[in-house]
Amino acid sequence: MNYVPTENRQGVTDSELRQALAVALLVLSLGGAAVVWTLTSKASPPLHTRDVPLLDIVHRHTEALEQYPESFPLQVAVFWTNPGPEPQNPLPLVHALKEMGIPFFITRDLGQALRHRLVILYPSVDANTLTEPQAGELTEFVQRGGFIFAQNVFWGGMESLFGFRSFAPSRKRYHLAFSGTTDPIMKYLNRPEEREVSLGSDHLPEIIWSNGYVPGPGAEVLARFDDGSAALLMNSVGKGRVYLLGLSLLDVVLRSQNNRDYEAQRHYVNTFEPGADVWLLILRAWYENYARDYVRLATVPGGQRSALLLSHDVDWENSFAPGLDFSRIEKANHASSTFFIQTKYVDDANSKAFFFEPNLDTLRLLKAGGSTVGSHSIIHSRGFNKFQLGTGHEGYPSYQPRGLGFDTASGATVFGELRVSKQLLDGEIPGQNTIFFRAGHLRVPDSLPEALERSGYQFDSSFTADDVLSNFPYALPRALGFEEDSDIYEFPVTIEDEESPGFAKRVPQALEVVLANAENGAVSVVLVHSNESTLKAAAEQELLRQLPADILKTDMVSFGRFWRARDRLQWRVTPTSVPDQVVLQVKSDESVTGLTFEFQRPIATVTGGAALLPDHRHIVLPELMSDHDMSIRINYVQ
Ligand SMILES: [Zn+2]
Repeated sequence: MNYVPTENRQGVTDSELRQALAVALLVLSLGGAAVVWTLTSKASPPLHTRDVPLLDIVHRHTEALEQYPESFPLQVAVFWTNPGPEPQNPLPLVHALKEMGIPFFITRDLGQALRHRLVILYPSVDANTLTEPQAGELTEFVQRGGFIFAQNVFWGGMESLFGFRSFAPSRKRYHLAFSGTTDPIMKYLNRPEEREVSLGSDHLPEIIWSNGYVPGPGAEVLARFDDGSAALLMNSVGKGRVYLLGLSLLDVVLRSQNNRDYEAQRHYVNTFEPGADVWLLILRAWYENYARDYVRLATVPGGQRSALLLSHDVDWENSFAPGLDFSRIEKANHASSTFFIQTKYVDDANSKAFFFEPNLDTLRLLKAGGSTVGSHSIIHSRGFNKFQLGTGHEGYPSYQPRGLGFDTASGATVFGELRVSKQLLDGEIPGQNTIFFRAGHLRVPDSLPEALERSGYQFDSSFTADDVLSNFPYALPRALGFEEDSDIYEFPVTIEDEESPGFAKRVPQALEVVLANAENGAVSVVLVHSNESTLKAAAEQELLRQLPADILKTDMVSFGRFWRARDRLQWRVTPTSVPDQVVLQVKSDESVTGLTFEFQRPIATVTGGAALLPDHRHIVLPELMSDHDMSIRINYVQ
């Protein structure tokens, strides 16, 4: 039977917690409205705007073979097994490898792939994928000491190499537990939330496709589905090893990241949920263990282990002034944050307008004090995910959206909420260029990535990390689909302040989630509404105070810029004629500081202005200018 990628795109239902939170947030804003609704709003002077051009979509991510060419021996070779006539593109694998900083190239040429030590077969192997001679080459490659990671191998001709007798497809396997304990690819799976993951809600009659394997003689079962069948197999053959996964990264990574999963999350927010990350961490451990003298691009700048990204949502008239207290505390703790501002210039059923003086002056003070500013829409509608896209020509003041009730609105569009809020923030705050967005109530329409990129944004933080099962930033696919990435990067919210019993009483739990992410090199995004600065600011200060020194504390815009440059970095490591020396060449599209590389072999000295860290295994690059090449010689300890 053929594997069919799960393509059900029906909307997922909200978790109860998500609804409870949304209600809590709504009550917060209605509470504000109740006080002022009867007052007559004074006519405010017109707001200043800056033009926001409507950009065209640039399809620069379409040709995987051209985009990811072979360039150095250490690269993992991705053998793309089905490029036509109905290709399943390698986007899910690209996400995983790029987020982990693993170098790779994509090829259709098996001979080219097998010249590299590590090979991934993607997305599947069936009876039509390989010829008999190619199957022989593959087996010989492993016997000689090659390493393969593959998913969904169905061809009987490959049974003995991959270590299975048979398999059974199903859409009714809901859980997976890792059972192998000593295999090196499990290195990063140490916590209970990583040892057992959910594949979908067992309240649903069907979820993603899985293939449960019956292991062959000698194969080791590293993970099992809830029906006992093998989900991940390891087979030693000669000097090499083969790993086989009975799931598709399309389903367990990309489907989770674009929130089209079958409610696989175990919580909505404020807990550690690495359900998609475990597959990235397995690939990372596979690469680090089997590559010879591996080199990896680290996820965090400056040799730090992780990053805490601080943010505040300003979605109430009295949430501006307390922002100054947060800003002061953050500065005193060598941190900074991003304020997501609701640019509410209309009165409606949810609240009166509040985007005027003196709130605008407070915003200017925040910005001048080193905080960064993002958009939190205009009317903060719970129905934002159902809004029409709009024309892209919405502008202030003719764009007149109104919230009508719980999740209904009139005159509102996705473009209007993004574009007009940016016009106003850029027009009212000196030096402001709004590139970060967070939706009200974290409601996300499918058109969000396109509308953001066409309005000049670069970053979004409108999902929760638990909901998308991901604690690494990632490129948001266009239309939240499976075909191509947009230019927008997503930074899902890890910790928020409203869930009962409130952030002030949850600091130890928050810290534990941050530490769990730090172990993986993942990041944690903290959202604290600035509606008061007594309890919440004290709680934030406590979190900052307890944070280990090797976790970076920064704002979302700064980290977003780093991540974007990192994601687009071109780099290669090649041997030189000098023994024990390699040269690292990097080229960045945009200027970036703090890029960090991790080396398996201890380093004695580096050139080119790079800093060698005390562990002799990490180097931090000097500032890289856009479109400049940099070459760094690395001399290993002999
Ligand atoms: Zn909000």
